[in-house]
Amino acid sequence: MASERQIDVGGVQIGGGAPVVVQTMTKTETANLAATMDQIRRVADAGADIVRCAVPRDEDVEALKTIVRESPIPVIADIHFNHTLALKAIDAGAHCVRINPGNIGGPDKVAAVVARAREAGTPLRIGVNSGSLPKHLHELERDDPVGALVGAALEFVELMERLEFGDFKVSIKSTNVPNTIASNRMLSERIPYPLHLGITEAGTKWSGSLKSAVGLGTLLADGIGDTIRISLSTFHAEEEVKVAWEILKSLHLRERGPVLIACPTCGRLQFDMDTVVADIERRLERYEDAIEVAVLGCAVNGIGEASHADFGITGAKNEGLIFSRGKALRKVPQEQLVDALFAEIDKYATSKRIDVDEREAAVGEAWLADIEAENAGELTPERLAAMEAAAADDDGADAALVAALDEQQSPVAGRRFSRT
Ligand code: SF4
Repeated sequence: MASERQIDVGGVQIGGGAPVVVQTMTKTETANLAATMDQIRRVADAGADIVRCAVPRDEDVEALKTIVRESPIPVIADIHFNHTLALKAIDAGAHCVRINPGNIGGPDKVAAVVARAREAGTPLRIGVNSGSLPKHLHELERDDPVGALVGAALEFVELMERLEFGDFKVSIKSTNVPNTIASNRMLSERIPYPLHLGITEAGTKWSGSLKSAVGLGTLLADGIGDTIRISLSTFHAEEEVKVAWEILKSLHLRERGPVLIACPTCGRLQFDMDTVVADIERRLERYEDAIEVAVLGCAVNGIGEASHADFGITGAKNEGLIFSRGKALRKVPQEQLVDALFAEIDKYATSKRIDVDEREAAVGEAWLADIEAENAGELTPERLAAMEAAAADDDGADAALVAALDEQQSPVAGRRFSRT
């Protein structure tokens, strides 16, 4: 269930129906002002709405004063254990302060931080981590880790409510993906406050991105979660931001820049997709329009499943086609495919229009029609998928599919199809 309450972190709304906020954390020593500001600017350019900095020492508080002033995006101070540093971070102008009420020295210390935050109008993030639950929940944690996490979070929320403070968001974090999903689902039913989602110590760029996509994606798809941070073992914080955006874009929760779709390739591939797709993905990073760009490894299927793409390429016989929204734009030699694609995207970026040269388009359509006719009987992955979908609710189509597979002696002819 989506959160009802909203907080304002330096002008960025979190919760209460606001778009899901992307945040990350600097990896630099905060007191190293030049390096920290450089990283903040890079994550802001990559699309971070908010950034968090670790503030474990007084020299970090000193740097924080300048960082808050110069940062292009709001800054959260992560003080974790030390309530004195939380007070100093609020005084330094942090737009939000993260504390773990379970380990900053007891309810009195929490009350002191809350009083200062109230005075300054600074929201707090109260966090619960599976690795730092209060002692009295350790036994429960062994039998019911999800219950222990939610129990700790609820205790902290109750403490905030007793202090009559409602300007906070809550995070429950675990290294365990199913526990993170279950505990956040449970918590979202119990409290109205915004939720910060993350998987603790998720791992490398590869495994951490996958774990985060599964864990956070599951919750976000259910409407749970108001701000996300992807924790990756990399010094390049902007990589965390890029992954966060891919998750939000794939769920259609937010838009930022182009979306790339690419076929999985198969034996019909007509050009070096690995290199081409990576090159296109890298070059697309500098565009802002939320266009969809498709890369099809061959033209055997026609434009088919990518007919909705704003721009796309496909190839055959040393030639290639640039297409747009289901229609050919132009045919080009294969080695010019990528540059020709970007020439069209550049034109669109300037004019916000797709220009069609009717003569060039007609040549492209004719070329495509020839390729499709030559390969009309081929069972490509896309055609098989379409036939399977039809077979799922039509007995006649099911028989046609089996017959087509038999006739083709396809390597997938032995597959079983459920007859519903
Ligand atoms: S048949 Fe489909 S998966 Fe195979 S290369 Fe062509 S578009 Fe890609």
